[in-house]
Amino acid sequence: MQDTPLTLSAIFQHGRAVYGDSEVVTYEGDGEFRRATFAEVAKRAEQLACALARLGIERGDRVATFAWNTQEHLEAYLAVPAMGAVLHTLNIRLFPEQVAYIIDHAEDAIILVDDSLVPVLAPLVPQLRTVKHIIVIGRGDASAIPSALRYDELLVAERGGFAWPTLDERAAAAMCYTSGTTGHPKGVVYSHRSTYLHSLAACTTNSLGIGERDRILPIVPMFHANAWGLPYAGWFAGSDLVMPNRFMQPDALAQIIASERPTFAAAVPTIWSSLLACADRVDMDLSSLERIVCGGAAVPRSLMEAFDRRFGRRIIQAWGMTETSPIAALAIPPTGTPPEREMTYRMRTGRILSGVEARIVDDNGCELPADGTQVGEIEVRGPWITASYYRDPAPEKFDDGWLRTGDIGSLDPEGYLQITDRAKDVIKSGGEWISSVELENALAAHPDVVECAVIAVPDSRWSERPLACVVRKPGSTVLAEALRDFLAERVARWWLPERWSFVAEVPKTSVGKFDKKVLRARYAEGALVVAELS
Ligand code: AMP
Repeated sequence: MQDTPLTLSAIFQHGRAVYGDSEVVTYEGDGEFRRATFAEVAKRAEQLACALARLGIERGDRVATFAWNTQEHLEAYLAVPAMGAVLHTLNIRLFPEQVAYIIDHAEDAIILVDDSLVPVLAPLVPQLRTVKHIIVIGRGDASAIPSALRYDELLVAERGGFAWPTLDERAAAAMCYTSGTTGHPKGVVYSHRSTYLHSLAACTTNSLGIGERDRILPIVPMFHANAWGLPYAGWFAGSDLVMPNRFMQPDALAQIIASERPTFAAAVPTIWSSLLACADRVDMDLSSLERIVCGGAAVPRSLMEAFDRRFGRRIIQAWGMTETSPIAALAIPPTGTPPEREMTYRMRTGRILSGVEARIVDDNGCELPADGTQVGEIEVRGPWITASYYRDPAPEKFDDGWLRTGDIGSLDPEGYLQITDRAKDVIKSGGEWISSVELENALAAHPDVVECAVIAVPDSRWSERPLACVVRKPGSTVLAEALRDFLAERVARWWLPERWSFVAEVPKTSVGKFDKKVLRARYAEGALVVAELS
């Protein structure tokens, strides 16, 4: 058989050649939508490649994006890897110091930034060592970055006709950083081959079943694990793409769904809960949605049932990680499942996809039987699972060619995973990580704090929120409000704990680490006195 490389250039050329009439729609707020065909987007991607090359971008150079889900972000998704450079999607919600660290670590040469996000990026610009150009998308005020170039002006100056190179399928195509439990975020580098195979997998019916008939609404941000692979899978399959831009509020999403009638949408549970919460107030027509995919955190049963009942629409639970490209498992019931048993399968975390292998290991690294009852750490391997982190060996994350996911759970004989706990102690709030270690480090800097541990506690709105358990210096009467104000100068606002508990000591494990399991259990039993700030 022929050995043509599996590259994003091939995906780009296929969508362009075969599905030129498919469309990309970007919401602009106030009921306004901007439309372009795949042919037009491809032309602009080509102009972007020309402009980036003129600015000095060569093969292997990193081009970062700091952007919402828009047509222009898709243009960068296509142009940057296809020209042989590496697309680095920066998470706009990280704390600024982390963003600066990541840009520096990845050695980004150019950043494409949405005009609405210029105020967030601008304060970091003086400390960026490797960035040569910043390109602003949109016509909004960019005076905070005086040297910035304008995306549209750069494109207008180019006629296209880029000489797309032949690429090695194992070369880097894109990268995304995941927040680790300890230390700095870790970079995952996707190859052309891994993304190509992930995109093909996303188009199979045991998986997301993406096809030309679909109109995809990727609500999951393009900076979160490639928007779960939807932009590439959709372009490859010729699906229309409906981009919500920065309009993540439930009213705006309801309007987008009602007027653009997507057949497929994907988002973390918090988004679907927020839509449900305003269903009494807002006219909600979800009838176009044939598939609603939900993952990134456990999907509450009540949410699935409410969608079934209220909208007659099914939520499909998915499991994956930045490290797994990310789709690795989907909770689709086996064919022939009687209706009364369906929810049992839908509530599982997901059935391992063709192409991915999973196993469960105990604390000693011994494989446990896949019997649906034995619980251990989930390990996965496959052609779209990362084999390492970028310039960060982290041997503890790998086990003889398998990725240690840090998720604890079981695997049954039909390939369904059930996550029961997380080995990691980070907090997942609204689908985004909050690092408990960073919060603890910041709090520990307060003169009245002896020690503190931050744990995740269930929250009806955000899935999880941080609870800070603090040991005060003897005689100190410092209040939770004061500690929160102290933290506010050091971490992102949405990280600030609402719940606080003053304890006599933080329980420790045998090796002297904070034993957060014990704290969680105490909280669950109601044994902690918790003050809740408004
Ligand atoms: P991220 O790399 O930010 O996508 O986070 C990946 C982590 O999110 C996984 O290791 C899980 O802990 C969690 N996660 C993703 N999907 C699910 C799910 N369906 N149920 C429970 N946890 C999930």
